[in-house]
Amino acid sequence: MQLWGGGEEKIEANPQLNINMEQTVAEFGQTNDLPNEVISEVFGDNSQKRLNEFGLTETQLRDNIQKSLAFYAEENSKNWVKIATKFPTWFIFLAVMFVLTRQKAVTKKNRNYLYALSILLFGVLLGSDPSPMGTVKDAIVLFATQGIIFPPRMIALAVFLLTVFVANKAICSWGCQFGVLQDLIFRLNSRAKKGGWFRQYKPPFIVTNTIRVAFFVGFTTIAFIWAFDLVEQIDPFKIYNPAIVTAIGWTFIGLILGLSLFIYRPWCHLFCPFGLTGWLVEHFSIFKIKVNYDTCSACESCAKVCPSTAMEAILKREKTIPDCFSCSSCINVCTTNSISFSTGKRNMPPVGKYK
Ligand code: SF4
Ligand code: SF4
Repeated sequence: MQLWGGGEEKIEANPQLNINMEQTVAEFGQTNDLPNEVISEVFGDNSQKRLNEFGLTETQLRDNIQKSLAFYAEENSKNWVKIATKFPTWFIFLAVMFVLTRQKAVTKKNRNYLYALSILLFGVLLGSDPSPMGTVKDAIVLFATQGIIFPPRMIALAVFLLTVFVANKAICSWGCQFGVLQDLIFRLNSRAKKGGWFRQYKPPFIVTNTIRVAFFVGFTTIAFIWAFDLVEQIDPFKIYNPAIVTAIGWTFIGLILGLSLFIYRPWCHLFCPFGLTGWLVEHFSIFKIKVNYDTCSACESCAKVCPSTAMEAILKREKTIPDCFSCSSCINVCTTNSISFSTGKRNMPPVGKYK
């Protein structure tokens, strides 16, 4: 578990509490085997006071203890050393990729090696947690099921969304351990000899995004109503923590990775809560893919090489622009240098320029 970057043994956040209001705090803690941190968080330094002296009902007491336990469990399930290593590594890697993208230096030759390096760093070595997806998912589940907001997770979420605000989905493109794995599988197929091992498809964004929104709404509703974490059952990021993957988990991971041969990043487009949240923030990104219509020859090579329908929508300035992963494939294929990853608004194309 330690090796694969998973949390240490989980602390039960919702144990059956045995409450006797006549007991002292110390006796209550012993009876229920509660950690000292939880006892002092809820009762302060009052170990000899009786529970009925705090002016709380049994229900209030139970709620306070369970919230504090959930907080404690969350804190103790993290590998803080790896987390403290992972964020600076992310920043350095993303900064390098930002420069390479702007300089059009991500080539067909080096792209897959860069993906492999990202998978090795952020998945194999630094583990499944944290991840951009996990920050959104856990923030929702913790609040829905325990009523708590865990500040470190909210900070991580804010940092991830800030990267989207600055540089589109660069974090998804180059830093997300599971997103990059899907990307690599897709590209290995498309780069295989004789036009790829299997034919690849670009499903309409309206379909994929509708499924993603429905999944997000369903998962959130289930968390609030039944206190059940649906994503936890199928979480594909656990591939980097194989000791905890269930049979259902392996089946789902196998399906997603198999599907990645045929369509671009199926988990990101169909299910990922961060995929959806990030897509909303993308609309305000400072750096994004832009087209210079003065020099564009309208060959549409960029739209063809884009692994999704994003470039076609950007080129034609359609109302809805699908997720752009800032992968830079479109930049590199353009022979007139008309595509850039830059600041400023996207212009409208001249009428009738594209079919
Ligand atoms: S959208 Fe894809 S790349 Fe982005 S966080 Fe989700 S799984 Fe990772
Ligand atoms: S190829 Fe598509 S996904 Fe990649 S940067 Fe261009 S528009 Fe975005």
